[in-house]
Amino acid sequence: MITDFNLQILIEPLLHWFAGHARVLPWREEPTPYRVWVSEIMLQQTRVEAVKPYFERFTKRLPDVEALAECPEDELLKLWEGLGYYNRVRNMQKAAVQVMEEYGGKLPADYEKLLKLKGIGSYTAGAIASIAYQIPVPAVDGNVFRILTRVSADDTDIMKPSFRSLLEKELREVMQGMEMPGAFNQALMELGATVCVPNGAPLCEQCPWNRLCLARKEGRIAELPVRTKAKARRIEKRTVLVIRDNDKVAIRKRPEKGLLAGLYELPNVEGRYSQDEIVHLVKEMQLSPIRVQKLENAKHIFSHIEWQMEGYAVLVEEAGFDTEAEKMAENHLIFVDAEKSQEKYAIPSAFAAYAKYMGIRLGNEKFLVTD
Ligand code: SF4
Repeated sequence: MITDFNLQILIEPLLHWFAGHARVLPWREEPTPYRVWVSEIMLQQTRVEAVKPYFERFTKRLPDVEALAECPEDELLKLWEGLGYYNRVRNMQKAAVQVMEEYGGKLPADYEKLLKLKGIGSYTAGAIASIAYQIPVPAVDGNVFRILTRVSADDTDIMKPSFRSLLEKELREVMQGMEMPGAFNQALMELGATVCVPNGAPLCEQCPWNRLCLARKEGRIAELPVRTKAKARRIEKRTVLVIRDNDKVAIRKRPEKGLLAGLYELPNVEGRYSQDEIVHLVKEMQLSPIRVQKLENAKHIFSHIEWQMEGYAVLVEEAGFDTEAEKMAENHLIFVDAEKSQEKYAIPSAFAAYAKYMGIRLGNEKFLVTD
């Protein structure tokens, strides 16, 4: 159990290992509070390699809290396009506005105050406070849960909120008076990300704790950490339409609330439809279909929902609308230049499988094509 384990003995070998094995990452070069914040939010649910180019682009365009607070929403979502979980960036902007109003644009060097900002939980607050301000507070993510439950052979369910509090309390105690709390937290995460890895067998031979690790001694690595199964995802069957009028393609804005709120999407409906039904559907949109072609199936996984998509390419007669306002009023569709759609409108990667039929490419982090 973690409470019976002497965490103190882990520190020295861990920091020694980290000094020789820390990966070079863009946000580590200049760990300002803002850059640490941006990187930690991006890294939630997204791999390091995928985050790197987003981080560079985002911090170049929005180099500080003020720029983030003032960024128009469409542009902000465009900068995030492909990373998914768009509420992360919306909350960041709300927090940035809060930081401008309450702290003059500087993230507070105070764990409790950081926790009060929108979208910042104990992990992110701990990361910013320790890495950017050297405040001795823990930052417990999935990596930290994994390595600490393994090293101490603790089989408590890590999904229990009380276990997080316990782990944070134990770490907080051991971190008191620590000179480099930021390096300690980063070393824990790094060990979990690169040695005691989340998928597949851990690389115990390379682990600085291999002589101390109780799970290894007791042959219990595979059963730790213990976690209750998350609820099964809801399956939603959707039909996606790539409606084209020569070099223009139809997109529409999603509602301001709910899944993928405020982003642009290819028109789509719930359920499965035959080719004849698609023709009917498109006519109901006040359009004149010339040709309907079945496209491949695709799947996109959100945290609680899985979209199983069937696609159709529909060629329509020139829509004949005069102004963008008229098009919008007619059926909420906008016919946009295929190439311009990519520059101007944030289209989530859920539609990546059909982007090639629009003539563009979308980040495809989370989609799998199925036949
Ligand atoms: S010895 Fe192996 S199981 Fe134990 S913490 Fe290190 S990598 Fe993980």
